[in-house]
Amino acid sequence: MRLDELKGVGDKTLAKLNGLGIYDVYDLLDFLPSEYWDMTKEGDLSLAEEGEYLLLKGRVRKLTKLVRRGSLNFFAATVDTPSGAIKAVWFNAPYLRSNLEEGADITLWGKLTVKKGVREFINPGFEGSGGDRLKGIVPIYPAKGQIGQSLIRKLTAECVDRVYVPPLADVASGMSLAEAYRAAHMPTDVKRAYDGLRRIALEELTARLAAYRLEKSREDKVKKNRFDLPFSVMDDLVKKLPFELTESQRAAIDDIVRDMRSDSKMNRMIVGDVGSGKTVVALLTMAYAARCGAQSVLMAPTEILAAQHYKTATGLLEGSGISCELLTGSSTAAQKRKVCALTESGGVDILIGTHAVLSDSVKFASLGYAVVDELHKFGVRQKSTLENKSYGVDVAVMSATPIPRALALAEYGDIFVSGIESRKSDGEYASTYVITDEKLDAMFGFIRERALAGDQIYIVCPRVEDSEGIELVSAKSVYAELSGGALAGVSVGLVYGSMAEKRKSETMEAFSEGKISVLIATGVVEVGVDCPGAAVMAVLHSDRFGLASLHQLRGRVGRRRGMKSYCFLHTSKRDCERLKIMEKERDGFKLAEEDAVQRGFGDFLGVRQSGGSGFRIDMALLKESKRCAEALFAPGNEALLEHYRIKQFSDKAKNISMN
Ligand code: ADP
Ligand code: MG
Repeated sequence: MRLDELKGVGDKTLAKLNGLGIYDVYDLLDFLPSEYWDMTKEGDLSLAEEGEYLLLKGRVRKLTKLVRRGSLNFFAATVDTPSGAIKAVWFNAPYLRSNLEEGADITLWGKLTVKKGVREFINPGFEGSGGDRLKGIVPIYPAKGQIGQSLIRKLTAECVDRVYVPPLADVASGMSLAEAYRAAHMPTDVKRAYDGLRRIALEELTARLAAYRLEKSREDKVKKNRFDLPFSVMDDLVKKLPFELTESQRAAIDDIVRDMRSDSKMNRMIVGDVGSGKTVVALLTMAYAARCGAQSVLMAPTEILAAQHYKTATGLLEGSGISCELLTGSSTAAQKRKVCALTESGGVDILIGTHAVLSDSVKFASLGYAVVDELHKFGVRQKSTLENKSYGVDVAVMSATPIPRALALAEYGDIFVSGIESRKSDGEYASTYVITDEKLDAMFGFIRERALAGDQIYIVCPRVEDSEGIELVSAKSVYAELSGGALAGVSVGLVYGSMAEKRKSETMEAFSEGKISVLIATGVVEVGVDCPGAAVMAVLHSDRFGLASLHQLRGRVGRRRGMKSYCFLHTSKRDCERLKIMEKERDGFKLAEEDAVQRGFGDFLGVRQSGGSGFRIDMALLKESKRCAEALFAPGNEALLEHYRIKQFSDKAKNISMN
């Protein structure tokens, strides 16, 4: 069945559907709600949290006149409900005002915001007594305003009735796939709708794994081995290091070198807690590649980190005859041209950079080895773009947290893992405290004290700019507030992602040299940056970060041996319990697993279900999909392997393969 056979789909709608990535009825069926509005019961204002959607019934106490300000106009109503009063504001919808009246009964549906202590609904849906629109469970689609919600609802409902999708995943019990589509698109119960999403996600994951496996079976994993020297050729550099390599660093290097010297492509992950010393493993093996005559590239997720790696590398490589260049987005055009020319002619052995190294203008004369640092900050596609810069490139990826996607693939048996153990002794871990608002002042007092005593401190905020109604959340406002108040007289710096690169790196440099005592930052400091004097990490509204990120942030402090360090995680009462695990657990692996349980795997897998829907993919679902995918390869299932869904993914897998 074609899309334009659905009722109401003409050329215009067709183009809009295409714009949302919907090209056939199957795509439309898989265009899943991102959330459900549950208007089956009344909300309670006294319990509701900001950001929650609520259905409220009450009486209009006061209705304002229409106010005009330039191109903007609005009016407001104060509504008394059994659980408290709420202010409803409607912008640029003057015609709605005549439907409202002081003293009349009203039903409102909206998202709760709090502005200066006043609870508000902005542009809520409403109806008077006798209305029957605001009821039931309504699916909300991620239509980005391109198509009306009611049209999408009508179209998906028609698909549910008319389109049959043969299931791939063979599940013994539970919902059938057809039931799942019905439950998700035409919900009668929120829990059941989510069960439906889960069943559909299982289908997609199964197809993805099957496609991946099909693709693998065709792929050429053989390479021409060009690494014919023993690693002992690096002894001079190893001796030059200001420290002894630990046993696990040596083991990781051995693993990498063994992979390089084999006849199949390396796909290895180096996992080690923050600060365990992965960089030196990367740099030594890259230098080794150089001595064997191959170029290598190291890609890091931020300019700060790339610059830092470059600095470490040039220090280490000085006098070795191995050349190294830096390429980032903020390199000047002339620098870029120079570095690209050198890379293409083979005049540079080691290229270090950000995403900039992925650019088409970066061509290698003899790329043999690629390293991706902080893998979880990159997409699969970026990793493969990098390794496809040349034929048979060996790849090592570095991560402080075993990312769930890698976990899944590791389970699938095609990425190998080397672990680097932490060099920290018990007393060297940051003592972690989860705190709520009441303790904030005491914390800033402590920070002031430590700063004056010579320690360095990070204060991390979830965002740069303020959003309405939330206090102390943005890096900029915290900076303004603290540098004039609690931290007056202390040298305070500010750094965030969108800041000009030059100022950013100057600030980071000043911090790492100890010229700045307190650095107020956004999550940009999460990855890799090394400041040996940092002793305190304070994260405001830490519930906005995942556990894995918090663990990374915490790893930014206490990097000097024997230093006593602290980590404060400020959060709302509601999230306190959830974050408590940070106080006890130091194992990054365990935290990553817990993170996945709390937040799901969807982000990592990048599947449509998770991209769009609020549905969470968990370990159990991954396991189940693996079982279902394996079952597809049993004799007798050949026809199913031709399923359109698998085809879809095997086309994509060519671009996004992890290998
Ligand atoms: P990560 O694994 O988080 O990337 P880094 O590679 O940035 O960690 O290393 C953190 C710090 O530890 C660096 O300052 C590095 O010089 C130092 N380091 C690395 N290996 C050792 C070692 N074997 N002994 C002592 N210090 C080391
Ligand atoms: Mg690192």
